[in-house]
Amino acid sequence: MYVDSHCHLTFEGLADRIDEVRAAMAAARVDRALVICTTLEEFSRVHALAMAYDNFWCSAGVHPDNEGVREPSLEDLLELAARPRVVAIGETGLDYYRLAGRSIDDMHWQRERFRIHIRAARTCAKPLVIHTRSASVDTLAILREEGTVRGVFHCFTETAAVARAALDLGFYISFSGIVTFRNAEDLRDVARFVPLDRLLIETDSPYLAPAPFRGKTNQPAYVAHVGAAVAALRGITPEALAGATSANFERLFEVKAA
Ligand SMILES: [Zn+2]
Ligand SMILES: [Zn+2]
Repeated sequence: MYVDSHCHLTFEGLADRIDEVRAAMAAARVDRALVICTTLEEFSRVHALAMAYDNFWCSAGVHPDNEGVREPSLEDLLELAARPRVVAIGETGLDYYRLAGRSIDDMHWQRERFRIHIRAARTCAKPLVIHTRSASVDTLAILREEGTVRGVFHCFTETAAVARAALDLGFYISFSGIVTFRNAEDLRDVARFVPLDRLLIETDSPYLAPAPFRGKTNQPAYVAHVGAAVAALRGITPEALAGATSANFERLFEVKAA
């Protein structure tokens, strides 16, 4: 019924209990998940999950927060993207939240890395999974400069104006458990406004567990709580929200039912 469009099943807290995670998904009627890659070093473990289970797929990319890891070339990303069950490039993007004493100018390497991912996505015709934090102006500017790609702004926490700009560029918007957090009223307004045919839901597990699990280890099963919350905000049934977001997932990532 539901799809978790963004989770990190190779991370601590989930990697060593995949059977349990999958049983919880089945019980919560979460029938598919996209396992997201954050370093080249991690790719083989991410990919192994997508190859082992017919309701998991994966991405290939290097997260903007990861420093001291192998820098991906265009060729690296294209080679990984060509493997079976790799349906997206990312997660990539810009994150100026933790500058650690540096200026935005100093983050040139992040912008270069983002551009490489955009070019890879365009070359292999796969969607981009975009992470943007405290960097929406540069994220949108670089996407406009680099030209046409499809994709999703994942774990959306920006304003309605940024959502509008991303939608105008053709992107989908994905909401996480943050929509259930008490202080997230502005984000709930954005979740009401995004057109139903451009909406995705995700956990970003093991982080950001939705209410009533806030502070605990998140897992794909909990995307049902994200979906129910977004459905309530929009005044539609959870079934309608699940159906729409699952169809959107299939369209964007070009995957079929499990
Ligand atoms: Zn992210
Ligand atoms: Zn993520």
